[in-house]
Amino acid sequence: MRPVSQAGAALLHLLVVTGPALLGLLTALYTARPSVFFLAPGMMLAVAVIACDGWIIASRRWITGSLALTTQAAFLLFAGSYRASPLPPALPLSGPLPQASPPVGMAIYALPTGLIHRTAAFAYRGGSPWKEWDSVMTAALVRHPQGDVLIETGLGRTIASQFRQMPFLFRLATDLAPSEPAADQLDAAGYDRKHLRYILLTHVHWDHVSGVPDFPGVPVLVTTAEHEFIADGGFANATARSIDPSRWQDYTFDGGPYLGFDRSHDLYGDGSIVMVPAPGHTPGSVVVFVALPDDTRYAFVGDLAWRREGILEREERPWLVRKALEHDPVAVQQSLLRMSAIAIRFPQIILAPSHDSRGYAAIPRWSRSALVWTNHVAGSSVPGWSCR
Ligand SMILES: [Zn+2]
Ligand SMILES: [Zn+2]
Repeated sequence: MRPVSQAGAALLHLLVVTGPALLGLLTALYTARPSVFFLAPGMMLAVAVIACDGWIIASRRWITGSLALTTQAAFLLFAGSYRASPLPPALPLSGPLPQASPPVGMAIYALPTGLIHRTAAFAYRGGSPWKEWDSVMTAALVRHPQGDVLIETGLGRTIASQFRQMPFLFRLATDLAPSEPAADQLDAAGYDRKHLRYILLTHVHWDHVSGVPDFPGVPVLVTTAEHEFIADGGFANATARSIDPSRWQDYTFDGGPYLGFDRSHDLYGDGSIVMVPAPGHTPGSVVVFVALPDDTRYAFVGDLAWRREGILEREERPWLVRKALEHDPVAVQQSLLRMSAIAIRFPQIILAPSHDSRGYAAIPRWSRSALVWTNHVAGSSVPGWSCR
């Protein structure tokens, strides 16, 4: 091996000891944003660190070598936090599917508003870093004779300015691709906004409340715990903090057990829209169960899991994501296992994590013809829904 200059040797020392930390950062960035700008330097850095290891061993620099061993072991430990590690199986769920009497004319429609390009490794332990995952932001309009409900709002008209308020590192790691806001889709179809009674959120993170300002005057339903969390949460709640405080309307879980959850709130008293507490991702996160007249059932699980695998394979999010974004990872585990038991006992319930397109694929897309159809089916029995 050729001798290296003093400056070159210092650089190699630095590279072999600190390189793994930079490699960890590039790994985290790549899983969040699968770009060649993170992958290429990461690959080159990995090769360089391995080559430096050879130089360290050949030149018997044991102090640097032991430091390098420590940082490289830390990197391997970090990389291992993306490996599959299923939670122990959930206790089986007993009891029947809760009764529901959804009214004639009740229907649900999906309004996709954009997505973020990520990898499956970012979503759950065991997800592949080479499998790209489009993290969707989709609102769901439930048409109900007692008043329509928009579950989540997706990305709204002011997403560009909302996103600019996010920290630099988050924006660097987030390849956001907004499409048509839910408000624009509803307006374009001729939807009469006076039928929209509530916005119902699974939680108040930026990507769920972004469209709230596009629906002025519509109450936004949140749990008391989530309402209090708006002020406490970090950057992910900045958009919620910018919303007129009078918009938030708290509800409590005044109903009994529901599918293994110990409390519930039945929005219209007919079992068609039922919220249960599923804290962890945020203190007041909920799961929203929707039952339709044709017996179709959905579970809008919010960000309890970002992809269905989180529930079906009982996989948490990777360590770094849990640390950065989860309020109470232990509570998330408990809620994940509850949903896992539900999925096993009632596989007919369609799991719809907020950012997994597969759940929303089962829901018809909102359109002008959807509006005409619900008006036609409900007919004159629903005031204001008659055909126009
Ligand atoms: Zn969230
Ligand atoms: Zn989210």
